[in-house]
Amino acid sequence: MTRSQGSGSVPPSTLSADVAARIQLVVLDVDGVLTDGGVYMGALPGGETLEMKRFDIQDGLGIRLLQWAGIEVAIVSGRVSEATAIRARELDVHECHQDGGAQKIRAIKGILERLDVGWDQVAMLGDDLPDLAVLRRVGVPAVVANVAEEVRREAVWQAKRRGGHGAVREFCEAILRARGDWEAQMEAYVAARGDPEEEG
Ligand SMILES: [Mg+2]
Repeated sequence: MTRSQGSGSVPPSTLSADVAARIQLVVLDVDGVLTDGGVYMGALPGGETLEMKRFDIQDGLGIRLLQWAGIEVAIVSGRVSEATAIRARELDVHECHQDGGAQKIRAIKGILERLDVGWDQVAMLGDDLPDLAVLRRVGVPAVVANVAEEVRREAVWQAKRRGGHGAVREFCEAILRARGDWEAQMEAYVAARGDPEEEG
């Protein structure tokens, strides 16, 4: 596998089975990956500042399907936002780390120790320069469609979709499909929501 794609070339949007099989942990950036990178900033009448982000619901189900397939998911952001913490709680992502100085390597080292996972077993989906140090280190560096060119060069996988518009779902699905788990996870999800009176 070529780690450096060189200038101009686009990394593939499919993963090989052996690459996908070694993934134990998927690390997701927030701004530009779980969101479109936009931040709504305002203030309440009392003066308290309010920051809102828009998350994609289909991304959320993709994260759930990964978790149910036994793959850990972590959220690591270089920006501190309550909106991110709320979304992580909603998705039962316990490893949610926000550092205003974007010290992502430090945060991920802690996760790897807690989960007993090695860097080569990590996939990360990123979009911009704060992700670069991590993408150079993980086994499966991946990027969204709206990626900075310098970051894309490090990737072995690129989403066709943009951050906040299904790129995370696309990555989750690519991993599960390459592992041969997609159909089973999807059917299990549907079966759990079937009509109980039809069960034989
Ligand atoms: Mg970002």
